Amino acid sequence: PPNFRANNFSAGPSSIPEEVLTVVQRDLFNFDNTGISVMEMSHRSKSFTKVFKEAEEDFRKLYDVPDNYYVLFMQGGGTGEFAAVYLNLINSKVIRQKQRDSSNPLKCAYIVSGSWSKLAKKECERLGGQTHLIVDCQDSASGKYLTVPPVSDWDILPTQDLAYVYYCDNETIGGLEFESDSVYPHFDNSVPIVCDISSNALTRKVDFSKFGIVYAGAQKNMGPSGLTVVVVRKDLVERDSIAQSQINPLPGFPSVLDYKYFVDGGFMPHTPTTFSIYVCGLVFKYILQKGGVDEMNRLSVQKSSLFYNLIDSNPQFLNNSIDKRYRSRLNCVFTLTNPSLDSKLLQDAANNNFFEIKGHRSTGGFRASFYNAITVNQVSLFVEFLSKFIQENS
Ligand code: PLP
Repeated sequence: PPNFRANNFSAGPSSIPEEVLTVVQRDLFNFDNTGISVMEMSHRSKSFTKVFKEAEEDFRKLYDVPDNYYVLFMQGGGTGEFAAVYLNLINSKVIRQKQRDSSNPLKCAYIVSGSWSKLAKKECERLGGQTHLIVDCQDSASGKYLTVPPVSDWDILPTQDLAYVYYCDNETIGGLEFESDSVYPHFDNSVPIVCDISSNALTRKVDFSKFGIVYAGAQKNMGPSGLTVVVVRKDLVERDSIAQSQINPLPGFPSVLDYKYFVDGGFMPHTPTTFSIYVCGLVFKYILQKGGVDEMNRLSVQKSSLFYNLIDSNPQFLNNSIDKRYRSRLNCVFTLTNPSLDSKLLQDAANNNFFEIKGHRSTGGFRASFYNAITVNQVSLFVEFLSKFIQENS
């Protein structure tokens, strides 16, 4: 066991459970009795094939992913998926058939609840997509994302005009998280709903049957960066004869972003992120053993409540102005009412072994991320430290 470990509240890449790191350390030089490290091993080898297969099976088990959905292990992170979502859907048979019936280009509709959904929309526009803003949750006075306007204020276009509806379930920078199952009921179920769960993956149940595509970068709740897990409904990967033709390859659509390239290539058409898949596979087993996604939800609620209780009991010192309904369980943002104490807090925190609590460079302030690898005890210790800091500096 290591003799020094920091309380690392990084928003990503972030903490990995120590139980998992211990296995990684044990296997580092000699994986599966091969005398080869998993990161030195062919992705076609017997040992890695088993890792890959089990990672998919365990992910499916954790989330109870329905049979009519593929689970793809891709690269390119969340940003890669901003493009992939658009390119795959707009080239899919389902959407192209719908497009033929309509004189106007179908709209790619976005709910913007923070920086990442805003960037996803921008990426779609960069690729030539016709976007539609359903609702922008940005508060015009503060520039922050503090709540979600009532659905009566959303601009919901008729189903026949929409290619898909996109949103981000948990905004990592601003700290705004939708309530479970709160978005899809507002849309006709014939429109594919796309959801980015990068920063709240494996922290609560997802009813995949309500979604077209759900995806997550691994580097927050699942393991090291590199891997992106994509869950996509099978019919959305089908192409019509024109888009499928080898003679007319789809312009501007790289194979590495193409879900069909993965499906047709036996889910591993090129070299995957072997090390990341291996570690994520261990994390999946760890979460299964700890009680699964429901247990992670229970712990997430417990950790974030401990923290928000501290904030709300010290309004003269700490502030989080996000509507309580939408406060993230994973990324707890806060500011000091006296910002001249900001650097002292960072320094005192470091002296007490609490790291990575600085807010995102675009927002300032502070952010503590309590992903699955962070224990209730670590959050309690941090709350204790902050209470003491408040007493000493009030
Ligand atoms: N979506 C969310 C919710 C994120 O938090 C991030 C990154 O932190 C991204 C997308 C972009 O992911 P990446 O940096 O892997 O491209």
